[in-house]
Amino acid sequence: MKRKRPTFFEPQSGKRSKTIDIEKLTSNILSWWDNEKITPPWGDTKDPYKIWIALIMGQQTNINIVKKEHKKWIEKFPDIKSCASASKSKIKKYWKLGYNNRALNIRKCAKIVINTGFPKSVKELKNLPGIGMYTASALASICFNQVTPVIDVNVTRIMKRVYMIYDKDDVKKKALNMIKVNPKRCGDINQAIMDLGVYICKPKKQKCEKCPISKMCNGGNFISEC
Ligand code: SF4
Repeated sequence: MKRKRPTFFEPQSGKRSKTIDIEKLTSNILSWWDNEKITPPWGDTKDPYKIWIALIMGQQTNINIVKKEHKKWIEKFPDIKSCASASKSKIKKYWKLGYNNRALNIRKCAKIVINTGFPKSVKELKNLPGIGMYTASALASICFNQVTPVIDVNVTRIMKRVYMIYDKDDVKKKALNMIKVNPKRCGDINQAIMDLGVYICKPKKQKCEKCPISKMCNGGNFISEC
């Protein structure tokens, strides 16, 4: 019978996983992110409207395309009011990313929050049209400093590699523990982990040699197999 080839995440026989200092892990990622000065697709703003549009655009769309389309969208619909009052056909006309439901939900949601503003909690945000767990957590932590982890494919991959874990509840717990290290910067920590996944800890050809947490990461044990 053919033996299953070990994956990147599987522990090597005889190697014990490293004990990880979570404060150091978090501060290394945050310092890396601070130094890299990675501009998010929404630019240098904490405006929930602009961040929300970029997050919705980012679903199933490449980050460089999001940056370009986000700029055009904000020129056309600079705030919630302009977005809520636009006709369906106008919204669809300026939405160039396919999956038109995303754009129509943006309009629906804008009509709801136009008078009240965005709610601050994940639970309330998730009740709005087109806003799922990922978008709600990102908005809550980045815009409203709510201590909640953002779990996307990048964060999941990093937690699995760093801690050698497989279960999605464990992934969430580890990510939450990291943002609790510095709650005042919970949004930044979430963004830093996601960006580490985009630029360094990629699904394939991860750049362990450039990674700020390579000395702590259990996945780094397998660099020769990557
Ligand atoms: S050391 Fe390698 S596997 Fe670990 S987080 Fe960094 S890039 Fe990913």
